[in-house]
Amino acid sequence: MDKTALLQHYFGYGQFRPGQEELVDGILAGRDVFGIMPTGGGKSICYQLPGLMLPGVTLVISPLISLMHDQVMALKAAGIPGAYVNSSLTLPQLRAVYRNLIQGKYKIVYVAPERLESEGFLDAVMRMNISMVAVDEAHCISQWGQDFRPSYLRIVEFIRLLPRRPVIAAFTATATAKVRDDVKRILGLNAPVEVVTGFDRPNLYFEVLHPEGKEAELLKLLEKRKRKSGIVYCATRKSVEQICQYLCDRGYAATRYHAGLEERERTANQDAFLYDEKTIMVATNAFGMGIDKSNVNFVIHYNMPKSLEAYYQEAGRAGRDGSNADCILLYGPKDVQTCRFFIENGSDNEDLTPQQREQIKKQDYERLEAMVTYCKTRACLRGWILEYFGQKHPENCGACGSCAKEYEKKDITKEAQMILSCVRRIRDHLGYYVGKPTVARVLQGSREKKVLELKLNEISTYGLMKTVGRTDIRLMIDRLEDGGYLTTELEHQTLRLTEKAGNVLHLGETVEILVLKEEKLLPIGEDGMNENERELFDLLRECRSALAREHGVPPFMIFSNATLTDMAKKHPKNMTELKRVSGVGEMKAGWYGRDFLKVLKGANK
Ligand code: ADP
Ligand code: ZN
Repeated sequence: MDKTALLQHYFGYGQFRPGQEELVDGILAGRDVFGIMPTGGGKSICYQLPGLMLPGVTLVISPLISLMHDQVMALKAAGIPGAYVNSSLTLPQLRAVYRNLIQGKYKIVYVAPERLESEGFLDAVMRMNISMVAVDEAHCISQWGQDFRPSYLRIVEFIRLLPRRPVIAAFTATATAKVRDDVKRILGLNAPVEVVTGFDRPNLYFEVLHPEGKEAELLKLLEKRKRKSGIVYCATRKSVEQICQYLCDRGYAATRYHAGLEERERTANQDAFLYDEKTIMVATNAFGMGIDKSNVNFVIHYNMPKSLEAYYQEAGRAGRDGSNADCILLYGPKDVQTCRFFIENGSDNEDLTPQQREQIKKQDYERLEAMVTYCKTRACLRGWILEYFGQKHPENCGACGSCAKEYEKKDITKEAQMILSCVRRIRDHLGYYVGKPTVARVLQGSREKKVLELKLNEISTYGLMKTVGRTDIRLMIDRLEDGGYLTTELEHQTLRLTEKAGNVLHLGETVEILVLKEEKLLPIGEDGMNENERELFDLLRECRSALAREHGVPPFMIFSNATLTDMAKKHPKNMTELKRVSGVGEMKAGWYGRDFLKVLKGANK
């Protein structure tokens, strides 16, 4: 079978996604390859497919045990013989895997980098024909990345030990140039075929909300997403506990995950989420690395993460199967303080010199600044993210919180002059800049102790905006910041004037801001199904749940939501038609086809 036939046969897909074919071809031609694709871009197929076609075995090096287990389950579910080697196996299990390995029973074997030195493993490997070494999450080899893993350096040694150098295929979702160069250099990729696919995830809808009360807002969001599966990320363990309890008290099937829980509970909760027994996972960022659940319909951030890198990675766990999904961030000013606390107290790595530590801190503050700007911008949110990752994009994406709203221009030159000159006057008066709340208080003419103690009531702009509420003053300050007239220095949280502010104060430049006209609501995650199709989708999903229970696998490993959606739309009547549904391969059609066809037959079109 050729590669396209195999793609259909094993994975049930009629077409390659962007970048996949080039990488597959590169590997089959014996070249090293380097694939840089976003989470959910479809990296696995890039090595699994050629792995099936090459004469020997493909070793996949992957950092996370849970990921390996899922990947191998998914392989088996597609009818591909695979195995994994890591510390979760018992000795007898390990021996069995090695025995089968030597006998050539597997085509694809996942292995943890720590195992590459173990004698048993090396012994088995030396007796096999290794065609390819695929390095997943290849950025872990770089010290510049956020997840450096020293054990990844062993890969290089290991490859040198092999009697014949196999093809090396590296994959990552991290785009920065420094990390990319590191991967190529350290792994010693030999003139690799390099493919960078776009970082855009068109099926994700992005939005930032600035709610008065986050708990109430969260309930509102979940109310609209009943029965859908999603993750709620919180900044701290404590808030995970609180929010999870809060949701459970209100009848939601929520579970929790953070590093403070016992291993046993973590695994149990994770499984409950994977198997759709619990639909909502409330977690810290400890959850998700290596979680391969493809039917996550929404990711809500209860708190702002500390960088856009982290945000995009976490939010990107939504909609991996390609169906529409929502990424919503609930922003509150306190979030900035939490992040600052983490930055100030975060780096406990003893190996770092004070200079290195300073450098990291500086980088962290820069990242935080970009994150905060994302939360406040009125520009296209997708555009902002892509820009950050160095990718071109249209001005307006049409599917984010900013693009979904209509704004009109409003002239606030007078107010801007008051605010900017107040910032200047306070600075002249005290000799230093102060934070946003103080500026707002002075403009409002507040009698609060701090204002009076600093004698800020004596400056000329005191009480200048008495008639405007404090919230509105704060909002205008935010808009001026957004427009580049003011900037917050994050380390000390002080509000400073920029050069642009001078134009307003001295040259009479007009200031216009965008204010909300009316909210244009976009339909959420409906995937263009009509009512009949949605009903059918629900029936198909029930069928999937029953099969999942019977076979003891997570539902999404049987078919993804995207596959069920396509099935509901195409309404196949027989096996041939069923195989035309995206994601229905030969094996799965054989194992589950009959059950789904029964459901389809029962439903009238
Ligand atoms: P990554 O490892 O890049 O995060 P995965 O390999 O897990 O992404 O793939 C994400 C999802 O996309 C999976 O559900 C996978 O089955 C699906 N997928 C991969 N390739 C294709 C394709 N050519 N057509 C349709 N779906 C695909
Ligand atoms: Zn947009």
